[in-house]
Amino acid sequence: MSKAPIGLITSAASENLLKDRRVEVVSTPWGEASILLGTIGGREAAVQLRYGAGLTTPSHKINYHANLFALHELGVESIISQNAIGSVNPAIRPGDIVISNDFLDKTKSRAQSLFDESECWVRVDFTDPFCPRLRQDLITSATRFSNRIIERGTFVCTEGPRFETPAEIRAYAKEGGDIVGTPLVPEVIFARELEMCFASIAPVINFGAGMAPAVIHFGPGSMNDIYYKEGLHDLIEKILIDAIAGISSDRSTCTCGTALEGGFHGQPPAWLKRKIA
Ligand SMILES: [Zn+2]
Repeated sequence: MSKAPIGLITSAASENLLKDRRVEVVSTPWGEASILLGTIGGREAAVQLRYGAGLTTPSHKINYHANLFALHELGVESIISQNAIGSVNPAIRPGDIVISNDFLDKTKSRAQSLFDESECWVRVDFTDPFCPRLRQDLITSATRFSNRIIERGTFVCTEGPRFETPAEIRAYAKEGGDIVGTPLVPEVIFARELEMCFASIAPVINFGAGMAPAVIHFGPGSMNDIYYKEGLHDLIEKILIDAIAGISSDRSTCTCGTALEGGFHGQPPAWLKRKIA
């Protein structure tokens, strides 16, 4: 099987971003996952198109188990998750790019642990929900290309597929949320449980419900137009190429690689190759 140390989870990857691409289908205990392999910024990378190649799978129906485990099987140590999201904080506007440092989980039906079907359970630390080392790499690259980088923020992950109500947006803001989107959880949890570093880069493409006249996905003035027609998509790809080229393979400055230590209870499943002390 091919190996790639860096993973990217996103909705689409242009030929400019991912070069020399090929498809690898990875078998996992939860079914097969299709991964694009190639190079980004001159580095071997594994790209997961989370909604499928034709954007056919909404966030609440994604096979997160297979997707994250497949990246792990391919040797991925550091994952960047790209999420186009909405703002619940009036100070964060469409066109800004947020590198989150915390999240609020508002999903309703998603698995909370990769180990739920095993004879064990884990309790991993989430004091730093996103890898601080990888966050800093993203911030360093992003600020080279844009002066609209928000270096901290709380990502509210909702179930979808509908957009939020105005009351929900007001509640999330009161609870400390800054941005809102649907695909972060359980990606961020499973990555930690597989001891991979994980950080998110989130371009803002709309205000939440009640903060603007309407939230429109496609058509004139829509989220899609802001992302693709106003240059945000190209900007994100430039940042990703620069960031991925600069990611260090030295993981000694974060604790993601030993996340299971001290929090593992029971008999490790056969698919977990790491020895738990
Ligand atoms: Zn880390």
